[in-house]
Amino acid sequence: MEIDLRELREGANEYEWAEAPEDLHIRDPDLRFVHPISTRMTVFKLSDSLSASGETNFRLRLDCVRCLEPFDLRLTSHFHFIFQKGRPPSLRGDEDETLIWLDDEPGKIDLGKEVKDYILLEVPINPVCKESCAGLCPSCGENLNFKQCTCKAETIDLRWEALRALKA
Ligand SMILES: [Zn+2]
Ligand SMILES: [Zn+2]
Repeated sequence: MEIDLRELREGANEYEWAEAPEDLHIRDPDLRFVHPISTRMTVFKLSDSLSASGETNFRLRLDCVRCLEPFDLRLTSHFHFIFQKGRPPSLRGDEDETLIWLDDEPGKIDLGKEVKDYILLEVPINPVCKESCAGLCPSCGENLNFKQCTCKAETIDLRWEALRALKA
C-alpha cells in the first residue's frame, strides 16, 4: 500500500488497492480473508499539511462460537491519518486519528501497517453466524439450527418424574 509523496497534487488524491493479507503485514493464520482486501483512500495535501482518510472493505471466514459452523462476515474499517514532519510535539492528536511521522526527504511510504491496525479492530472476538443462532445442544451436540434434538423433552420428563415422586 504505497504512496509516493513526491507525486501528490494539491488537494485530494484518490487511491485504490485490492491486496492480499500479506501486503498489509497480516500474518495471523487464524484470520481467513475470503477476497482481496479492498481499500479506498483520499490523501489531502494542502501546501505543507498532509492527511488521509478512507475505508477498507473485507470479508472474513469465521467460526460461529455458538454452533461452530463457518460463515462469512463482510466488514468495513474507517481510518484517518495525519502526517507530520519533524520531532513529535508534546500535544497528542485526536484519538480517532493516527499520527504518522514522515522523513524530512519526501519519498514513498507504505501505509499497510497503519491500515492493518484498523482492520484488526473490526474482527469480532465472539463471532455469531446470526443473532438468532440456536447453537449446539449441550448434551448431544446436535446443531439446533437445523434439527431439534430430543434432549430437552427428556429433561422435562425427568423433572415431571421428580415431581411425581414428591407427590407420591
Ligand atoms: Zn451459529
Ligand atoms: Zn440434544
